Amino acid sequence: MRSRSADVVVIGAGIMGAATAYFAAAAGLRVILVERGGIAAGTSSRCEGNLLVSDKELGPELELTLYSQRVWREDLAEHADAWEFETKGGIIVAEDPETTVVLEKLAAHQRSLGIEVELLGDIDAVRELEPYANPALSSGAFYPGDAQIQPILATHHLIRLARGLGTELLLRTPVEELVTRGGRAVGVRTPDGVISAGAVVNCAGPWAGEVAGLAGLDLPVMPRRGFVLVTEPVPVTIHHKVYSAGYVGDVASADAVLQVSPVVEGTPSGTVLLGSSRERVGFDTSFSQEAVARIAQAAVRLFPALADLALLRTYSGFRPYCPDHLPVIGEDARLPGLWHAGGQEGAGIGLSVGIAKLLAQALSGAAPDMDLAPFRPDRFAERLAA
Ligand SMILES: Cc1cc2nc3c(=O)[nH]c(=O)nc-3n(C[C@H](O)[C@H](O)[C@H](O)COP(=O)(O)OP(=O)(O)OC[C@H]3O[C@@H](n4cnc5c(N)ncnc54)[C@H](O)[C@@H]3O)c2cc1C
Repeated sequence: MRSRSADVVVIGAGIMGAATAYFAAAAGLRVILVERGGIAAGTSSRCEGNLLVSDKELGPELELTLYSQRVWREDLAEHADAWEFETKGGIIVAEDPETTVVLEKLAAHQRSLGIEVELLGDIDAVRELEPYANPALSSGAFYPGDAQIQPILATHHLIRLARGLGTELLLRTPVEELVTRGGRAVGVRTPDGVISAGAVVNCAGPWAGEVAGLAGLDLPVMPRRGFVLVTEPVPVTIHHKVYSAGYVGDVASADAVLQVSPVVEGTPSGTVLLGSSRERVGFDTSFSQEAVARIAQAAVRLFPALADLALLRTYSGFRPYCPDHLPVIGEDARLPGLWHAGGQEGAGIGLSVGIAKLLAQALSGAAPDMDLAPFRPDRFAERLAA
C-alpha cells in the first residue's frame, strides 16, 4: 500500500479523462490519472469520431460545441496528424419534401448563429457531392465545418502529452471509494491505497453516475446503447458524413425504446461505417439483430449500392446520457472538491477538449472562457426538490 498525492486526481482514461489530465497539467497542476482498465477501455473505443456542428440545436451545447471546435482546430492544431483530424464535411439529407422545409428552417437558424451551411435544394445538388446517393431523396444541407478524428489515437496521444507534463497514469486501478473529510472530497481509495488530492474529477463516462454514487450522490448519467456496422472495404465512394434529418430528432429524444436513423460515412481505408441506433437498455452488451438490421435497411435508403456489400463486423458502445441532454461540468455543490465531466452523450469526442480546457481553467482558479452554469452537476437535485 502506498499513499500518493496530487493537485487533481482524474478518474477514467477515456477521451474525457485524457483531455482533462492534459489541460490540467498544462495549467501547471500535478495530476494523477486513474483507470480501472486500460486506456480507452470504455466508450471512447466503441464510437465514431465525428466532431459535428450540424446536429446541434440552439443553446448552451451549441456554444460549447463551437468552443470545442476552436480548441481542436487552434489550440491543438499541431497534433492534428496524431489523431487523423480530417475536415470531411457533413450532409444532412431530407428523405421527403416535408423534411426539406424543416431542413431549410434549421439551416437558416444555424446560419444566424455563425455555422457555415449551404442548402442543396434538390437531389441533383446532393448527387454532385455524393454521386451514389439515392435519387429518390429530396434535398440536403452541406456543413463544410463538420470534421472527424480517430478517438482511440486521440485518447492515447492526449495521455502521452499529459505524461510529458508530469501526469502519473495508474492503469488497472479501480476507484472504490471517494474519500471525504469535513464535507469535502479529498481523494480516492483504490486497492493500492489512498490518493489525496485537492480536487477529484469524475470522468467515468457512462459509469459517472456509479462513481458519484460512491459518495451517496445522485448523478443521472445513464448508458444509451448504440451500434455501428462496418462494411467490407471498397474504393472510396462516399466522401462526407451523410445522415438523415431524422437523426437530429433522435439525438434530442428522451425515448428509451430503440430508435434508428441512418448515418453513413466512408473511411480512408475503404470500409463504410453505418450508424446509428439509440436505446436505453442498461449496460446490456448483447448483440441486437433488430438494431443492426434496422441500421442496414436505413443506410440502404440513403445509398442503395450498400445493399451489395458484406458486413465485416459490428460493435456497440454506451453513450453517457443525461435526461436533459446537457453535459454535467464543474464542481458538485453538494460535495465541494468533487468535479464532474460527463453526460456528453453522443458528442463526447467532439466536446472533450473544450470541456477539459474550461475545467482546467476553473480548477486552477481562473474564470472559465464560458459560463458553466447551464451544466451544473447538481441541477437535477434542485429539480427533484422543486
Ligand atoms: C455508437 C456510438 C457512436 C458515437 N459516435 C460519436 C461521434 O461520432 N462523435 C462524438 O463526439 N461522440 C460519439 N459518441 C459518444 C462518445 O463515444 C462518448 O461521449 C465519449 O467516448 C465519452 O468519453 P468518456 O471519456 O467520458 O467515457 P469513456 O470513454 O467511457 O471513459 C470512461 C472511463 O472511466 C473508467 N472508469 C469507470 N469507472 C471507474 C472507476 N470506478 N475507477 C476507475 N476508472 C473507471 C472506464 O473504464 C472508462 O475507461 C458515440 C458513442 C457511441 C456509443
